[in-house]
Amino acid sequence: MTMIPAARPLIGDEERAAVDRVLRSGMIAQGPEVAAFEREFGEQLVGGRACVAVSSGTTGLHLGLLAAGIGPGDEVIVPSFTFAATANSVALTGATPVFADIDPDTYCLDPASVAAAITDRTAGIMPVHLYGHPADVTALGDLAAAHGAQLFEDAAQAHGATWQGAPVGSFGSFAMFSLYPTKNMTSGEGGMVSCATPELVRMVQLLRNQGMEKRYENEVVGFNARMTDVHAAIGRVQLGKVGAWTAQRQENAAFLSSNLEGVGVPQVAPGATHVWHQYTIRVPQDRDGFAKALADEHGVGSGVYYPIPNHQLPSFALEFDLPATREACDQVLSLPVHPALSRDDLERVVAGVNAVAKAGA
Ligand SMILES: *Cc1c(COP(=O)(O)O)cnc(C)c1O
Repeated sequence: MTMIPAARPLIGDEERAAVDRVLRSGMIAQGPEVAAFEREFGEQLVGGRACVAVSSGTTGLHLGLLAAGIGPGDEVIVPSFTFAATANSVALTGATPVFADIDPDTYCLDPASVAAAITDRTAGIMPVHLYGHPADVTALGDLAAAHGAQLFEDAAQAHGATWQGAPVGSFGSFAMFSLYPTKNMTSGEGGMVSCATPELVRMVQLLRNQGMEKRYENEVVGFNARMTDVHAAIGRVQLGKVGAWTAQRQENAAFLSSNLEGVGVPQVAPGATHVWHQYTIRVPQDRDGFAKALADEHGVGSGVYYPIPNHQLPSFALEFDLPATREACDQVLSLPVHPALSRDDLERVVAGVNAVAKAGA
């Protein structure tokens, strides 16, 4: 029995040809491919907002926060139920990440928990559109505006998701999309920062390139966070495919939701379009045993995103009482939903999950 993997990057002949074209051009570092990728990404995915390509999603968050003026003395409210890069990027600016709880249905920041965490020092609120489900950016944006704070979006997992008809990445001062291989589209490594204002665009561009717009006239202290034309060429091809892949993910998720029995299936909030970076069920008892039986007996791979609340990681080791986060860490299990699954694969996932759920009931 072959194993159905939980995730699978799809790299085809077009990506290989694009890389070859760039390598043959002799211009490999940031150049015309990056500029075209930024323009096309902005037009296709964030309603025409200006985008700046960087070397990774994590770097995109870090530079976006710095460009927005976040630094020592500031607090930025983030979920604890996410990948560590969300809070890491806040901490790396010298600001303090403040952890809030999630809505147990959407796994995204709970506005009531965020409201309770606001202080005089709150300078930003950074929801994560987790698993490809948009956070409630209406309520979170209202909270931010009422307290003179900015809204930022960690859209690493949510290319193409929408909230009340508008794309994620078009709400915050800035938003970051990851282009890591397991995300809904990839450039190898990379990140895209969509920006609300020309000032932010310019500052992210400066920070990306040693603080230089004109060579050797460095205006601010910056990084080398540039994307290469080789990576941008891969990303441009993937951008042409991500719409069809998202439709396939949505079809796969609908199949799973209408056929799974005995487990809690994922919910979609009214007004949300989910892009199913992950399809995540709840297993209230012995989740890890469930995952092992699924793999050993049915050849179905799965993943736990995320087993440890970020505030409890050794890197933070902070005390927060976040009951919905704790419960999610104990119960979530993500099943294969990626666009490379065949109908047979999907049927095997359903049969496996239903059998393991029945055996454990
Ligand atoms: C992947 C991811 C990141 C970081 O992106 P990289 O491209 O891997 O640096 C940040 N936040 C979330 C929620 C992610 O899933």
